[in-house]
Amino acid sequence: MIKRDSATRHKHRARIRKDQPACHICGKPIDYTLPHLDPWSFVVDHVIPLAKGGSDDLSNKKAAHRECNSKKRARLVAPIVRRSGSLT
Ligand SMILES: [Zn+2]
Repeated sequence: MIKRDSATRHKHRARIRKDQPACHICGKPIDYTLPHLDPWSFVVDHVIPLAKGGSDDLSNKKAAHRECNSKKRARLVAPIVRRSGSLT
């Protein structure tokens, strides 16, 4: 069992936020001032989902947009074949 330590999670989140990295999924910058329910706000994404055996360590956590994170999750459930547009 993985121990879910909320204090550690909070610390990790604060640590990632401090560096203000770009979204690891789409590569675009994140506006860290957006309210947390905004689709383009900052969320902590587990690179390898906990459900797939990923760790809860900082090394498995990256900054992502809420929107990208939810798309990634949707993709894990139902793969999207079509590629929408190119990177600008
Ligand atoms: Zn993104």
